[in-house]
Amino acid sequence: MNIKFKPVVHGLKPYEPGKPIEEVKADFGLEEVIKLASNENPYGSSLKVTKLLNQTGTQQLYPDGHASALRKELARRLQVKEEQLLFGAGSDEVILLVCRALLSENTNTVMATPTFSQYKHNAVIEGAEIIEVPLRDGLHDLKAMADHINENTQIVWVCNPNNPSGTYNNADDFVRFMERVPSDVLVVSDEAYMEYVEASDYPDTLSMLKTYDNLLILRTFSKMYGLAGLRIGYGVGAESFISKVEPLRPPFNTTKLAQEAALTALDDQTFINDCYEKNLTEKNKLEVFFHENGCICYPSETNFILVDVGTSGDDVFNALIRQGVIVRSGEALGFPHCIRISVGTESENAELMRAFTRWSKDQVKV
Ligand SMILES: *Cc1c(COP(=O)(O)O)cnc(C)c1O
Repeated sequence: MNIKFKPVVHGLKPYEPGKPIEEVKADFGLEEVIKLASNENPYGSSLKVTKLLNQTGTQQLYPDGHASALRKELARRLQVKEEQLLFGAGSDEVILLVCRALLSENTNTVMATPTFSQYKHNAVIEGAEIIEVPLRDGLHDLKAMADHINENTQIVWVCNPNNPSGTYNNADDFVRFMERVPSDVLVVSDEAYMEYVEASDYPDTLSMLKTYDNLLILRTFSKMYGLAGLRIGYGVGAESFISKVEPLRPPFNTTKLAQEAALTALDDQTFINDCYEKNLTEKNKLEVFFHENGCICYPSETNFILVDVGTSGDDVFNALIRQGVIVRSGEALGFPHCIRISVGTESENAELMRAFTRWSKDQVKV
């Protein structure tokens, strides 16, 4: 093959998703396998969405690329102008679009490490320099991140709560940080898990949009809204900023089904509240369990927990998957002694705890 790729393409690795359930069943000869690896909603989505998806007719027409109905409803709920919204095939696509619009060679972008992999991945493709600032006690070190901004900095990423640590930065720290960031540097607050946050001092970034036109908030329907398979998320920012990025968006990037399902999902906040409560109960249960087993959990404001198992994360991952429980090893996520576990349903978590207990008993014997 003689095609001459951009040099940067040669160094790229494809995203490694959590292992699919069917593959694990086949590989290990298991009948029951549960997946607690990708932070989806274990309770599915609103029954109203299920009903809608069963009723949809043919799909021969292009969707409304502007997502007008969803745009109108979200703008109303978030109390922003419709022109402040940018829709993507998941917030992943909004990350891509923003990188495309702002990054190139001779620019840089500042992010935490470890954090969500897609900021770096897309920035590398655009040829930008990556400035990584280690987490401090599991949190974004916002002071050090601000210190690293220089005249070539275009974007600073704040994953809040952070994936994979589950930790959050509070409102005081975030406001102090925004005060220090030059107005020509974009700050992205990725809030994929905001629906799960319990902390009362979590930043209210929507209200900060009035003060900072260099702030972009990312939200998604993939996590608590339970629509990961439909691919829809969005950015909220200043109208002046969004209007510049909007032309980069592929014209029909979100599907008709995704838009309708998102609109319907928003209409069932009872489901959302119910998932919030169940997640808290189950998360607390898992935290107590791991604590009793001598493991340290990073304090999580999300639907997953990063657990320090004090040994190779890959080893524990392998021991669990053999028993039909798929988690994520921390080794690929920057926490080699950890596993990241999505909080499942009551019965899924019982399975996980049973499998973990079996592994730890085997450890004792050796
Ligand atoms: C899951 C996730 C996303 C992206 O989800 P989409 O499905 O693309 O909307 C973005 N950021 C973080 C931190 C995530 O964990």
